[in-house]
Amino acid sequence: MTERFDAIVVGAGQAGPALAVRLAKAGGKVALVERNLFGGTCVNTGCVPTKTLVASARVAHVARTAAAYGVDIGGRVTVDMRKVKARKDGVVEASRQGVERWLRGTEGVTVIRGHARFADPKTLAVEGARFAAERIFLNVGGRPSAPPIEGLDAVPYLTSSTMMDVDFVPEHLVVIGGSYIGLEFAQMYRRFGAEVTVVEMSPRIIPREDAEVSEAIREVLAQEGVAIHTSAQCISVAKDGKGVVLGVDCDQSLPAVRGSHLLVAAGRRPNTHDLGLEAAGIETDPQGFIPVDERLETRVPGIFVLGDANRRGAFTHTSYNDYEIVAANLCDGADRKVSDRIPAYALFVDPPLGRVGMTEAGGAQVRPSGPGGEASDVARRARARARRDRGLHEGAGRRRDETDSRRRDTGHRGRRGDPRAHQRDERAPALHRVAGGGADPSDRRGAAADAVRGPAPARRGNPLPHEPSPQRPSTCPA
Ligand SMILES: Cc1cc2nc3c(=O)[nH]c(=O)nc-3n(C[C@H](O)[C@H](O)[C@H](O)COP(=O)(O)OP(=O)(O)OC[C@H]3O[C@@H](n4cnc5c(N)ncnc54)[C@H](O)[C@@H]3O)c2cc1C
Repeated sequence: MTERFDAIVVGAGQAGPALAVRLAKAGGKVALVERNLFGGTCVNTGCVPTKTLVASARVAHVARTAAAYGVDIGGRVTVDMRKVKARKDGVVEASRQGVERWLRGTEGVTVIRGHARFADPKTLAVEGARFAAERIFLNVGGRPSAPPIEGLDAVPYLTSSTMMDVDFVPEHLVVIGGSYIGLEFAQMYRRFGAEVTVVEMSPRIIPREDAEVSEAIREVLAQEGVAIHTSAQCISVAKDGKGVVLGVDCDQSLPAVRGSHLLVAAGRRPNTHDLGLEAAGIETDPQGFIPVDERLETRVPGIFVLGDANRRGAFTHTSYNDYEIVAANLCDGADRKVSDRIPAYALFVDPPLGRVGMTEAGGAQVRPSGPGGEASDVARRARARARRDRGLHEGAGRRRDETDSRRRDTGHRGRRGDPRAHQRDERAPALHRVAGGGADPSDRRGAAADAVRGPAPARRGNPLPHEPSPQRPSTCPA
């Protein structure tokens, strides 16, 4: 027998729960199917745990560099990773439970546990049962993927997901991937006390950023003792006793990189391979993403894709904004398009990098109109700050050789006392509080999300700022 709903949402990531609740509150009979952990990637293995760990790492860093602030903490700073992990687990658990409680407590929402797979364009099979709806919303997210690297299959390695189980400080963490995820882990574990080496195939880290921004971040990380190998075109991996050894160039002329643990943070792929898409008549692109139109609908009418799996964003706030677009169009008679969204995101190294708009290389950049809005200016100021800070701490003045990890400094060196540091300290937990324990988990948003979403008054209550249009009647939920 097939149970009928007005709408079915697959995945309790960053868009699905908010959409399910919105449609149910509009009077719909809505099913939400989740096969694993409520809250998806962001809550369980992404933003929330990593930012919680970043906060712990920053405390260690500030404590370690306290003398530069004129503060005597009277002893060596040590990190108890089991406690760090326990704190992280607590924050994640609260957030996950919040999402589940919210869904189960909303009248009109039926939570179904299990893996959803299309039986036909209007029907999903879940654990032997069948559920049908005129509208199906996929918020299935993604998972870590590893690029083809010689020898990788034969060595144990960590991913951004399995890093969440680590409750010790690796002696030497080698990170393959010098982009957003890899760099956050690199600085964090350096601050926890590990030797860290980042291996990046491109000529510079975070290659999607403008060159000067990459360079500014590289300097900040190098200053703290993170070794960085760029242009690692031919990476190979092998076991080395209890650890790993990496070849980093094609002719093996550069010294190999040795480490105790390997983290592969070099890509993610969408969870679309096991959705039975062929039964719905949906094709993916070669990387597995599902093509959608400007309103996030697939070529099959009534099937929408929100979040990372549609390739229109790869962040919590873009996924949530997908929900806003779909809900506004269906329920408020709006005509919102995903291409109206201004790209905005943050890289949570410390100091963090925030971007709004495209890169200079990527085309027309959204620039502040006043002086100092140039990307090069921002990078110059970050570098100036890094230079100013150099020399304050242990091992001051030593420069890292990018291609030789044997010359790695062992002392942690950090930034000069910054009068605004306490403001950052207060902001970070505030973000986690919202993420973890807000009364309404739909309000789970970061600063970058605010940039996408617009002014504060639109945030509370109905989060959709668009007036209904008389030309476009509401089709919510039916
Ligand atoms: C280490 C890391 C750090 C990150 N940090 C940040 C950050 O600081 N800021 C930021 O904005 N973004 C960050 N991100 C990205 C962010 O986590 C994702 O962009 C965000 O979670 C959006 O995901 P989503 O809504 O598309 O789906 P997800 O959150 O991935 O959720 C998808 C859900 O669908 C479920 N599912 C999948 N297939 C099925 C099926 N067939 N049946 C039933 N259920 C299914 C899954 O179990 C999962 O719960 C980070 C990501 C990682 C990995």
